Amino acid sequence: MNIFFDVDQTIISSANDLRPGVLELFETLKGDGHAIYLWSGLGPRDEIVAMHKLQTYISGCYEKPLTRYDELLKPLGIPVRPDYAVDDHEGLVLHFGGTLVSHYLVTNEGDREMWRVGVSIAARATAR
Ligand SMILES: [Mg+2]
Repeated sequence: MNIFFDVDQTIISSANDLRPGVLELFETLKGDGHAIYLWSGLGPRDEIVAMHKLQTYISGCYEKPLTRYDELLKPLGIPVRPDYAVDDHEGLVLHFGGTLVSHYLVTNEGDREMWRVGVSIAARATAR
């Protein structure tokens, strides 16, 4: 599947710390043959990819459409339609299907949202 992750407060905190489980999840998803994309309302976040050394996992980094989601994919240069969206806001998740995660605001080593996402993606992939 083409899996799109929001950046701020989904995979990083407000202080840009990586959320627990992100690396493990990306490793698993890539191993299972999924393509992982990042998108953000702030534009392509290549600096976050570099900061956390995510290059080997990421197939692309894009600006995220905040409205008219399907219509704006092409103008934003997004080459595929998302099969699955992971976001801390519900709009894209409701539109494309996916998992709505809690806002990851501050570093919290006890956060387990990425494990929940992994289970949901595995279930969706199996159902296809
Ligand atoms: Mg967000």
